[in-house]
Amino acid sequence: MQLTREKWSKNFSEWFDWVLREGEFYDYGRYPIKGMGVWMPYGFKLRQNVINLIRKLLDLTGHEEVLFPLLIPEDLLRRESTHIKGFEGEVFWVTKGGDEDLDIRLALRPTSEVAITWMENLWIKSYKQLPKKYYQIVSVFRYETKATRPMIRLREITTFKEAHTVHETYEDAQKQVEEAIEIYKKFFDEIGIPYVISERPEWDRFAGALHTYAFDTIMPDGRVMQIGTVHHLGQNFSKALDFKIQKRDGSLDYPHQTSYGISDRAIASVISIHGDDHGPVLPPSVSPYKVVLIPIPAKSEDENKRVLEYLQEIYEILIKNNISSIIDYDPEKTPGEKYYIWELKGVPIRIEIGPREVSSNTVFIKRRDNLESYKVKKDELIIRINEILNDIQENLRKRAWEFMNSKIKYSNDINEAKKIIEKELGIVEVPWCGKNECGLKIEELTDTRVLGYPIEERRVNDKCVICKMNAKTVLRIAKTY
Ligand SMILES: [Zn+2]
Repeated sequence: MQLTREKWSKNFSEWFDWVLREGEFYDYGRYPIKGMGVWMPYGFKLRQNVINLIRKLLDLTGHEEVLFPLLIPEDLLRRESTHIKGFEGEVFWVTKGGDEDLDIRLALRPTSEVAITWMENLWIKSYKQLPKKYYQIVSVFRYETKATRPMIRLREITTFKEAHTVHETYEDAQKQVEEAIEIYKKFFDEIGIPYVISERPEWDRFAGALHTYAFDTIMPDGRVMQIGTVHHLGQNFSKALDFKIQKRDGSLDYPHQTSYGISDRAIASVISIHGDDHGPVLPPSVSPYKVVLIPIPAKSEDENKRVLEYLQEIYEILIKNNISSIIDYDPEKTPGEKYYIWELKGVPIRIEIGPREVSSNTVFIKRRDNLESYKVKKDELIIRINEILNDIQENLRKRAWEFMNSKIKYSNDINEAKKIIEKELGIVEVPWCGKNECGLKIEELTDTRVLGYPIEERRVNDKCVICKMNAKTVLRIAKTY
């Protein structure tokens, strides 16, 4: 069975705020700067596990971690003109040091393409050093003027994983784009988050990129959230910074670059998408604790002592087998109150131990995702726990994909497409001829955002919803965060 998902889907904003605050993930709206939140200890552990996952995937594929200064001088940021135009309205500027005005304004980095290219220009001289793949996990700042949202739309994005790569040729950079997409697929698969990958249309590319490919997911309320992007930058930044390398044929030329990023939104999606009306259900792959142990009070002091000893013994078996666990001893709370709290924290397995378990050498296990329970012998504990954790991980992934797929529709009628979005949100795919003017018209007539078109070839035996020419592909539209 599954818990209801009424609050979760119908009042998602309230649900999300409630979970973040009461589940002690992230305190938002009380720090005295708009758009900046505080990671609390429990949320920080989740964040750390998510970071470890992506770090592992990047390290395994030859990416090297670096750390650049937070500040970028204005003249450097202005070197790539499309880039600065795209970010100008969102930059926080540092203009003073103490009481003195600075000679040049310093930007709190909104992203790091120019800063990193500046140093690459000094470090990389020859094709023999390529490919080069750097990444860093840092805060970036955007002066958001729209309504901000915890973890989703922030002025300080605290978990910005940005990768920046350098290649000899356009094709090499394109191959890197494909590798980045594969890395992100693995990453989102490991946290059970479903996605659609679209090439963003020309009018919605990353500022300074030749191509932008984006991972989007559908949130519980039906709105679409961008959770990752991959950009082919071509020679735009290397030209702007006069960054040349020696090529294979001996000539000096500009290298080709890519960049790709994910952010706090990956964590927001993992908290949100697997949830229900009791709170989130965290996938075992990133949950701060896989198991919470709760003592059930007995009638006598003696019995209570035995319960706690047995509980400690079970805890140690779990820890020895690398199953991160926590005991909730709090004598001030009833077991029922503890169940409520740990469900709200999304811990995938609960173990309850009382006098009955002590006398029968068993443990009572309850799953967070479907509320199934099992009585398991102590000897079989680790085998069973691992089986159940795997099953939860798979069940969450499957359920999330089914939810997302149920919200993707196709329509060859512009009015119907608009109605579907108005009524149930999600994503609607409409046949499209490939012309920008038709794409922009689709956006305007449906009052939605164009996500882009599938990266794989899509045969559509239909006519463009605007010009009625033969469609080349589909265009995806949605209401977005
Ligand atoms: Zn058309």
